Amino acid sequence: MDLGVLLPSLIPSLQSVYVLVSYFVYLAVAGELLPGKVYVLVSYFVYLAVAGELLPGKVIRGVVLSDGSQLRYRCNGLFALTLLVAILGISAKLGIVSPLVVADRGLELLSATFIFCVLVTLVLYISGRSSSDKTSSLKPHVSGNLVHDWWFGIQLNPQFLSIDLKFFFVRAGMMGWLLINLSILAKSVQDDSLSQSMILYQIFCALYILDYFVHEEYMTSTWDIIAERLGFMLVFGDLLWIPFTFSIQACNCVFDNEPVHRNFILLSSWHGWWLLHNKVQLTVPAIVANCFVFLIGYMVFRGANKQKHIFKKNPKTPIWGKPPVVVGGKLLASGYWGIARHCNYLGDLMLALSFSLPCGISSPVPYFYPIYLLILLIWRERRDEVRCAEKYKEIWAEYLRLVPYRILPYVY
Ligand code: NDP
Repeated sequence: MDLGVLLPSLIPSLQSVYVLVSYFVYLAVAGELLPGKVYVLVSYFVYLAVAGELLPGKVIRGVVLSDGSQLRYRCNGLFALTLLVAILGISAKLGIVSPLVVADRGLELLSATFIFCVLVTLVLYISGRSSSDKTSSLKPHVSGNLVHDWWFGIQLNPQFLSIDLKFFFVRAGMMGWLLINLSILAKSVQDDSLSQSMILYQIFCALYILDYFVHEEYMTSTWDIIAERLGFMLVFGDLLWIPFTFSIQACNCVFDNEPVHRNFILLSSWHGWWLLHNKVQLTVPAIVANCFVFLIGYMVFRGANKQKHIFKKNPKTPIWGKPPVVVGGKLLASGYWGIARHCNYLGDLMLALSFSLPCGISSPVPYFYPIYLLILLIWRERRDEVRCAEKYKEIWAEYLRLVPYRILPYVY
């Protein structure tokens, strides 16, 4: 081994000291505030970091950045998730961990995660500002407005111990969503309240999350990875928003047994303590319709994302059996991308709706996720249009002419 290369990398940089000190502060603070449950979060992150580095997986090159560099991503999320669920399942069987730990301690985990998000983004802010790196991934983008820079982030692809944090956090959030759901499922089995609605919700979400990891490499060309800097908005969105709010439909009586938490239920009834507290009788046509919404949503969502991904790799690949319609050699204008400029958002919205439909239509509360996603994706589509118009100029104008609809043909 070349010691000349190894030795300098053993000397702690200022950035690594910031990260370590802040991490210890976080552990101390969160450990005091949240007795006993921080270890769940810490063990989860440690597992993900180790599994992400060690488990085999396809190594994908990211998009070419403005300085010509390309990051590499090891797409072993499916392996890491399967192994984690297997370890947790066996541990639960042996009585080492309780499958209810997340369901019973949801609030504590939520606040621990929130503190973590705040601290880690402060560290990202400080280390980003002091970076003198000139590469596209690490170059600091400082507006001078502290809140703006902390919120939107300073660097595009910051790393910790050579782990790409952006890729890591989104993975942690998606897996966390499944783990919360599984814990709630265990809770409903234990309470003898497992319903058709809960089963439908669980199946749809599990398929969506597993599909995400089967196609994890597609993530490497999404807006978050290629364009968004890593600040509070993204870290909070990945680590807290995705797992804790996307599970609202199922996240019902998880604090049921403790008086302190009952107050929380009263205060935040919007959290929809639905599928365990509310019995929903679904008719057969309703179940069939729900499955259709899921399947069509999935077909559009996955089909559109796949077509774009394949097109970016090889612009000559046929789309739906025909040569692709290409604008200016760069933009795909056939297949789903010829129907609307963001058909993938339409598919995602249908999927989100299918996760809520099992709760019936007697309350808007379980519809939090599709409503939120509608707002988010309309906002995001607008921002993406601005970015693409700047990047592609007259090519984009030509694409607008060919494909006039943004998300839903003939409507929007
Ligand atoms: P897209 O995957 O649609 O990526 C947008 C980028 O694709 C553009 O910036 C442009 O990048 C490129 N592009 C746009 N139009 C074309 C075209 N016609 N031909 C070729 N390239 C094109 O957006 P997102 O990253 O926002 O979304 C990815 C998926 O993630 C979506 O399915 C979305 O629904 C989902 N999502 C889900 C969220 C959730 O909370 N559930 C949140 C956000 C996203 P370039 O410069 O590389 O050409």
